Amino acid sequence: MNATIDAATDPAAETAAATTVYIGLGANLGDRGQALRSAVQALAGLPGTRLCGVSSLYRSAPVDASGPDYLNAVAVLETNAAPQDFLARLQALENAAGRQRPYRNAPRTLDLDILLWGDARLDTPTLTVPHPRMEERAFVLRPLAELAPQRVTAAQLAAVAGQAIDVLAGPQWVEGVATL
Ligand code: ADP
Ligand code: MG
Repeated sequence: MNATIDAATDPAAETAAATTVYIGLGANLGDRGQALRSAVQALAGLPGTRLCGVSSLYRSAPVDASGPDYLNAVAVLETNAAPQDFLARLQALENAAGRQRPYRNAPRTLDLDILLWGDARLDTPTLTVPHPRMEERAFVLRPLAELAPQRVTAAQLAAVAGQAIDVLAGPQWVEGVATL
């Protein structure tokens, strides 16, 4: 008789296990700060998801593009959602914020990227995790290193040290959003 049920053998236990997910937020059109605050609140309200923390708020010059400066941050969540379903939720939030995609790297009212999905490596036509360009970007690595110092190396930070980026506010920039 097998009396032992655990996450490795019980499919129901597997689906109930939450994954720690890091989301990169960016905006360089419209009321950028309000867009990011609303996005964090919306992330906290996604089904099967809880908000664990938010990085400081950063301002960065566009990379490989022209246009206004970006505001950027990273949020850490725990979710029971499947990665593709979660990506669809993020894209719905982008669209609700008025996101348009006229050309690659176009200025945007809201960009929500999945940076890390637990320790998973995913490579599908619509979703690549870890995010394929995160190591090139100070505006991802700096806020991510605040929340998950074990996931960003000093060498990675040194490699992006020449990029123009400032801290605008500490993690309290998202008012009224409870984090764990
Ligand atoms: P950008 O790469 O500038 O963020 P978009 O936000 O327009 O560009 O996203 C382009 C496509 O990238 C999306 O349609 C999505 O399917 C795909 N994609 C691949 N991996 C990821 C990821 N980790 N997070 C978000 N989108 C991703
Ligand atoms: Mg994106």
